[in-house]
Amino acid sequence: MSMQIAQHVPFNPVQCPVCINYVPNINRCRAFAVESWPRPLLAVLGEESADPCPRFVEIAQTLAATPADAPLAEIESAPANVQPVESQAEAVQPAKNVPAVTVETAPAETSQPEAPMMDSAEIATPAPVRGEARIHCQKCKAENPSSAVRCQKCDAKLLPAEGAGARFSTFFSSVIAAGLFGYLLYRFYIQNPGSAPDIPILDAFLNPVVLGLATVIAFITAIVVPLRRTPEYVKYINRAKRHIQLNPWQALADVESAMEIAPDKEQDNLLKQRAQLYEMVGFAEDAARDRLTLATAQDAFKGEADAVKMFTGADSGTYAAGRRSSQIKTILYSGKALAIGYCPKCNEVDVLDKDEHCQIHPKTKGREVEYVIPADVLAGKLTVMQKVEAGKPKVAEQLTELLTTGKASAIGYCLRCKAVVELTPERRCAVHPKARVKNVQYAVPRDLAAARKRIFKLQHGRRSGRNQTVFIAVALIIAALLLLNAYDAEISGVFQRLINSGR
Ligand SMILES: [Zn+2]
Ligand SMILES: [Zn+2]
Ligand SMILES: [Zn+2]
Repeated sequence: MSMQIAQHVPFNPVQCPVCINYVPNINRCRAFAVESWPRPLLAVLGEESADPCPRFVEIAQTLAATPADAPLAEIESAPANVQPVESQAEAVQPAKNVPAVTVETAPAETSQPEAPMMDSAEIATPAPVRGEARIHCQKCKAENPSSAVRCQKCDAKLLPAEGAGARFSTFFSSVIAAGLFGYLLYRFYIQNPGSAPDIPILDAFLNPVVLGLATVIAFITAIVVPLRRTPEYVKYINRAKRHIQLNPWQALADVESAMEIAPDKEQDNLLKQRAQLYEMVGFAEDAARDRLTLATAQDAFKGEADAVKMFTGADSGTYAAGRRSSQIKTILYSGKALAIGYCPKCNEVDVLDKDEHCQIHPKTKGREVEYVIPADVLAGKLTVMQKVEAGKPKVAEQLTELLTTGKASAIGYCLRCKAVVELTPERRCAVHPKARVKNVQYAVPRDLAAARKRIFKLQHGRRSGRNQTVFIAVALIIAALLLLNAYDAEISGVFQRLINSGR
């Protein structure tokens, strides 16, 4: 999200240069970073102050805190470990988010060892730089900064609810649909039972249960949708649609905002929209990543499979699985994506061959397979390692090596810090090496923000999802009762009630 701005903290000339959180080449502080998309915004260091910093962690002290048996190589590369994250973060921060500040070069006398250059080929390519997102006011057409809530020219809300027109058309089409299904139900099963036309292909559709359900759903839609408070994610989706031509960067930002808060069932659709936007602005790699996620999703062919089942009676689960695996095979053979998995014989996680077998043991199928675009091999390995790490010392070793060399980072919730912190290669809090750490996640530097979100999600669970399910269940029961009541009376009564309750 682009609404955050970096924190300002004073520069302590005694502490900062020897603090593990200080990033000398950009003169910023990691300890007060603000959560932001696509990377945390590091705090800007301002005036000098002699006040002691509450989050000061001296470099030498931290190293002493790492277990004595830690190999020397780990200690030497510890600072390098964090370097790529920051320099990359700096590179992609939209300029407007960075308050005007003179970025001074690090003081010459700094005692922090210069971070050796990483072999950049191993680090994911930096994300392409985005253009500036601007919100076009719907009312007066003025351009506003992406973080503005109201138009700076006419004070109109920049994230408005659905308009009356959209609500009216939803109401109208739902009432018509409810009336049509209700009429069919009445005509074929109540007025003249057994009079339903015998058309095999419509068998699945023309039966009282399906018709009844369709009536109920259309009925609920007619009542609920026009009256509901527009969900926040729908507002973002609508604004994204309006900005596709006006300012695709704003559209992209809005689709991403929607993804963060939309319910699970909307995610595929949003992913599709984001892929289209990426393609439009020429972010080929990001587009490919989203397309691959969609193509390999467990429910990639669910809709199609349900339709096939309806018309042919074939088992939808088998059909969907078959379609999905043949699609994945096509993609793997094209070379545009790779499969990564755990080989029980190697005891390691690695890239698999095109048939998802270990490259060294062609007869062994990889486990916990992930599909990635070639640029994401490391990220894919981390995902698989995360899944199989427990009880597999060799995988844990593989992970430790990636962490020690700084190619990957581990973050987790430290129970003493009461915060998500970056962990040492031993998966410990740098400040509290003995404290318990929950929900450890591994990520390449580019994905740290997403990993943080995963941790927060793991901690909070999906409460909103549960509430929604309860709401829908209650609405269904009420509507069903209303409907049963209605069919007891005459059909004309039903329409009367529908129209009355719609008013
Ligand atoms: Zn305006
Ligand atoms: Zn193997
Ligand atoms: Zn801690």
